[in-house]
Amino acid sequence: MSFPSLFVSHGSPDLSLHSGKSLDFFKQLGLQLGRPEAILAISAHWLSAEPTVSGAARPATIHDFGGFPAELYQIQYPAPGAVELATEVQSLLTNAGFAAQTHPDRGLDHGVWTPLMLMYPDADIPVTQLSIQPRRDPAYHFRLGQALAPLRDRNVLILASGSLTHNLGALDRGNFAADPAYWAVAFDEWISQTIAQGNTEALLNYRELAPFAIENHPTDEHLLPLFVAAGAGGNHPVQLHADFTYGSLSMASYAFA
Ligand code: ZN
Repeated sequence: MSFPSLFVSHGSPDLSLHSGKSLDFFKQLGLQLGRPEAILAISAHWLSAEPTVSGAARPATIHDFGGFPAELYQIQYPAPGAVELATEVQSLLTNAGFAAQTHPDRGLDHGVWTPLMLMYPDADIPVTQLSIQPRRDPAYHFRLGQALAPLRDRNVLILASGSLTHNLGALDRGNFAADPAYWAVAFDEWISQTIAQGNTEALLNYRELAPFAIENHPTDEHLLPLFVAAGAGGNHPVQLHADFTYGSLSMASYAFA
């Protein structure tokens, strides 16, 4: 069985506290995909100079956010680590020319457990995380994904987690269901159309070509996982979900089958 690679927008850390279509989307996504043997998660919340994969046997749940309701800090996602997969990831990346490293015990950040606790609530599928490189461009992250593509044929789910739009200063805080801002909608639509057209060259040059790119991504670490998913996936992109929260935080998610 070959899994698609996924890009999901993980939303705000309090996503699980708000019922609605994005919560419903994540809850059905695991059932829709079926059960992988292991999960390789690429999160916008783990940044490093070189690609680093976690070799943790029992990854801790990291609560890497501030100022949210206390119950969010109690959440645990006690999935086992994926030590063998981590070794395989490092060798795939090394063979492709990346200076890949292993971290001995890095846990799971909220970019990973927010979607996974809804997709696979039993927390019984081994998970490891791979970092992204904020100083590198989209084309680099696309190549990183290409190097990981063989894992899809080995029952591994490649789950890249970021945010299709991400301007925290522009959020309509306190208004989860606010109508989306025009500049966020325009960017979201451009990315969705470019993916649907299979126009990888345009996608990788989004900074120059997409409307309101800088407004949606003052820094682009939340979009970089998208390019990893696109590189790792097949040529049949499918938009899985579209929604906005807090007025400009897109929840757009895609499968690259
Ligand atoms: Zn985030």
